[in-house]
Amino acid sequence: METHLADFIRHTTAGREAEEILRRCVHCGFCTATCPTYQLLGDELDGPRGRIYLIKQVLEGATPTAKTRLHLDRCLSCRSCETTCPSGVHYSRLLDIGREVVERMVPRSGSDAFMRGALKNLLPRATVFGAAMKLGQSVRMLLPGVLRAKVPPLSAAGPTPRRSHVRQFIALAGCVQPSMYPNVNGAARRVLDRLGIQMVEAKGAGCCGAVRLHLNEAEGARDDARRNIDAWWPLLEAGAEGLVMTASGCGSHVLEYAHLLQDDPDYAVKAARIVLATRDISEVITAEVAALAPLLQACRPLPASERLLAFQNPCSLQHGLKIRGTVESLLAAAGYTLTAVADSHLCCGSAGTYSVLQPELSKRLQANKIAALIAGGPAAIASANVGCMGHLQGATDLPVRHWIELLDARLAS
Ligand code: SF4
Ligand code: SF4
Repeated sequence: METHLADFIRHTTAGREAEEILRRCVHCGFCTATCPTYQLLGDELDGPRGRIYLIKQVLEGATPTAKTRLHLDRCLSCRSCETTCPSGVHYSRLLDIGREVVERMVPRSGSDAFMRGALKNLLPRATVFGAAMKLGQSVRMLLPGVLRAKVPPLSAAGPTPRRSHVRQFIALAGCVQPSMYPNVNGAARRVLDRLGIQMVEAKGAGCCGAVRLHLNEAEGARDDARRNIDAWWPLLEAGAEGLVMTASGCGSHVLEYAHLLQDDPDYAVKAARIVLATRDISEVITAEVAALAPLLQACRPLPASERLLAFQNPCSLQHGLKIRGTVESLLAAAGYTLTAVADSHLCCGSAGTYSVLQPELSKRLQANKIAALIAGGPAAIASANVGCMGHLQGATDLPVRHWIELLDARLAS
């Protein structure tokens, strides 16, 4: 696509990147067919090709309006379009650039500004969010239905292995997962321990930064990345094999650190090493499958009533990390029979803060996803990302678990 960027951005890193991305797009529209918001709204400007066109216009000097911003706000950042695109257009990076520019040119006001400010300040602070979550859990049954759906019942991390191992992976505790689903990292720790790997946490690490980036606060996201790198670096230098991510949304964002910090002379090299060292928990466990197989063979057979399972492959796992089939293979090896899930490439509507900021679209996507997941009559739903788990659990009575929790339970049987 021929592009002539305006002076304000042409000679910047972001401008050069945007130009390269725009030039790749041949405007074929294949991506539109797999875009969840286009499917719901039927408006070209609520699909990837239309959004690319809007961003191009702004970067070429057109003045954006509140309507431009709304079309960009409605994007889930699910990256389904990237998976479909035959030209390799890195849409999500263009979106980040476009959103940052539009945010500056079309400031927010009123309840929109307030809500975004509250989310930016609450979610990434694990201690503050944890206290708020605990309070919500203590009065959960008294909460109105809409709020109760977002507050999972109180749960525990389960027993912590006592052994230490030479092989170590650094875990990201994250911001919301420890208080919403503490058993996810607890289960990962126990499964890795059985495989001779110790999961350690770095003091001082926190939110990966995805929350702030998705709320168009790129500089805050860079600060989150720098703080985490500072916390992880000594452990990597001391011999940790790498970083293990138990939330695919966080893992997908950590892989962007090298890009986010490319112009920072103090962090660019370190960020690149962090990216190379980062693995999703499914990748770490798949690499140990020779050790896992005999452990699974020694387990009690899974009761027939628990065997059917629906797996929701989060966008961050399949489109962000490009991991497809890995978790499914591990679950099959653990004795589960996975049901067919229609339109598995489509987002469930959680998408970070999307369910709060775009509740109507989010609800429609949630209903479609739940219908697809329960169609095969599963006994439970498995996921790989904390946000999706909470979002799906709010709309079904079937248990929604992280797949690593299921593997942990199998290994303990
Ligand atoms: S599929 Fe790729 S090249 Fe085609 S319109 Fe979409 S982003 Fe552009
Ligand atoms: S990221 Fe998802 S919602 Fe956004 S344009 Fe691409 S497919 Fe559509």
